[in-house]
Formats: sequence, structure tokens, C-alpha cells
Amino acid sequence: MADHVLTLKHFFEEARAGRLTGIRCGKCGELAIPPKEFCPTCQERNWAPVPLGGAGSITSFTVIRVAPRGRGAEAPYAVAVVRLDEGVSLLGRIVDIPFDSLRADLPVRFRPIVTGEQTAIGFGPA
Ligand SMILES: [Zn+2]
Repeated sequence: MADHVLTLKHFFEEARAGRLTGIRCGKCGELAIPPKEFCPTCQERNWAPVPLGGAGSITSFTVIRVAPRGRGAEAPYAVAVVRLDEGVSLLGRIVDIPFDSLRADLPVRFRPIVTGEQTAIGFGPA
């Protein structure tokens, strides 16, 4: 079954194309994102990829005013934990939403942030 496991590399390739993909455990039904090796609930490794709609709402957020070393030009920016409609949560960078509009329960939609070869998870207005 290992051939069917969604790798992190493939996850980001899909994300780059605008498709958010989770994995569902074939044993207990746990949904996970981003992909991991073993199911955190039942410890099985029996995942099947599941396309996700990309819509969700903010659970919590932080405005980063001092960026990590080497990323200073990008600050300030906001990162948020977003609970997707499918019930899984994912950390992403907020784009195109003013900081003072950010609040818990704000609806957002997945949007890839592509910088050269890098793809990051982002969320913009719903
Ligand atoms: Zn499981």
C-alpha cells in the first residue's frame, strides 16, 4: 500500500496547482493534513488521498512582525490556524486580508503561495 501514500512532496505539488489534498485512514477514518507517516489515532499506515475543498475558517492567528532570519522583507505577515470544512486544521499564511479584519471564525479559502520553486500554504478571502 505504501505506493499509494501521498508524500509531502506530492502534497506540495498539488497545492502549487491549487489543490488541497488530505489523507484519510483506511482503518479508523481519521482525516489528516499535511500527510504524515502513521495515523495518530490508530497508528496504522493505511492512507488514501482525499481532495479537500479548501474552504474553512480561522481558529486562531498571529501577526509576525519580526520575521525569522532571512525572511525579514516579508514581515509583517499573519499566520493562522484554519479549520477546513472537512474538519481538519492546517497552518497557513494569510494573504489579502488586512490584519485588523482578522478574527476567529472568519471564513477563508486556501490559496497556494508560490515563490520560485517554493510552495507554501496560504489562505485568502473566502
Ligand atoms: Zn487510523
